[in-house]
Amino acid sequence: MKKYFLLLAVLTTGVVTAQDVEKLISKSEVERIEKTLSSDEMEGRRTFTKGIDKAAAFIAEEFKKTGLQTWNNSGSYLQQFAMVRPKFISLTASLGGVSLDSRDVVVVTCQPDINITEKSGYEKVKIAAGANLGTEARKYLAANKNYVVIVDTSFAKTFSTLTRMKSNIFKTDKSVVFILAATDPATYSVSAKHEITEMPLANVVGVLPGKSKKNEYVIFSGHYDHLGIMGKDRNGNVQTDSIFNGANDDAAGTTAMMVLAQYFKKVNNNERTLIFAAFTAEEVGGFGATYFSRQFDPAQVMAMFNIEMIGSESKWGKNSAFITGYEKTDMGKILQANLAGTDFMFHPDPYPEQQLFYRSDNATLARLGVPAHTISTTKIDVDPYYHKASDEFSTIDIDNMTRIIRAIALSSKGIVSGKETPTRVNTSDLR
Ligand SMILES: [Zn+2]
Repeated sequence: MKKYFLLLAVLTTGVVTAQDVEKLISKSEVERIEKTLSSDEMEGRRTFTKGIDKAAAFIAEEFKKTGLQTWNNSGSYLQQFAMVRPKFISLTASLGGVSLDSRDVVVVTCQPDINITEKSGYEKVKIAAGANLGTEARKYLAANKNYVVIVDTSFAKTFSTLTRMKSNIFKTDKSVVFILAATDPATYSVSAKHEITEMPLANVVGVLPGKSKKNEYVIFSGHYDHLGIMGKDRNGNVQTDSIFNGANDDAAGTTAMMVLAQYFKKVNNNERTLIFAAFTAEEVGGFGATYFSRQFDPAQVMAMFNIEMIGSESKWGKNSAFITGYEKTDMGKILQANLAGTDFMFHPDPYPEQQLFYRSDNATLARLGVPAHTISTTKIDVDPYYHKASDEFSTIDIDNMTRIIRAIALSSKGIVSGKETPTRVNTSDLR
């Protein structure tokens, strides 16, 4: 009954107060979700295991209970995709009628058999001397087109590093062929055989459609994968408890995202479309967030709140968190202004040397100009549980974590309602 009257008050006045948020986001709900995600039953949520599938099913079920819609009306909260690892078997190639050493050709493909010539419609491009080989190569792979890339022979020593691009490819019917060559004759032929292994993955994505600004998106996210079951920690020490529960990393961020979905559904005043995403495969290379981010026109994404490790006190104590890349947009200032009258503080990232802004799941969209930030409290330089089996539910400060989630809810109200729009990341100074 109480809740009903409260909602009525929010709906009639249109103003969300700190008191409303406090009533709508409860400690017990935060605890329930956090406890479930970090339980031994989820087996540490390692990518490509049954444990992570259980976690995905749990998140999807919660999205359903919350009443979220599916992305693009796909009918499923699971956003499925695959990574491919092509294993090289054989190759023959020629350039201008002269046959090439197989070491001078790298074929990045998801096809077991590829046979192409200059008549196959591949776009031919060059990586010239002085360019950044890795950056240029990744650019062509990300473009998802068929390319033949002539690589200048000044890269002879590092050319073989391009084979690393084959360790994980988003499944595609496009191929990129790199050829190390001093000249660029008009004719060529390349035939290659690979053994193809496909690895299925899934993000969990739910949508709360905007009332008027449907094509303006605001994203809330966290990664739900962790390290799984291991006998030893990173330093080679044998673990007595072999399940890495990842209660803080990042069951905490995922919990926050799920609780915020419930909250915004109840408040029901989002003029912009809200997207709630649990990312897979963060710990093995950020593939989930990368795949997810590519589904958007970055110009339509107004803000991204990625939430990562908020289960402990920040270096400033309770009621505070930091925002990575704080100075790159005015989003942090907007959020803080909405917290006036509360004792909560958002700080700039105190660990800039860790490069968290470019290392976390917000990075793909941030690099495209989106005000996409990660909110965290981890004392990353001294965190005793980081990537250890001891990152367990018992270490989580549920009370403080609930306050952080409430602060995100309250501080984002102008962005969610469409009244406030953060400035974009200046992409010209990105590396
Ligand atoms: Zn993490």
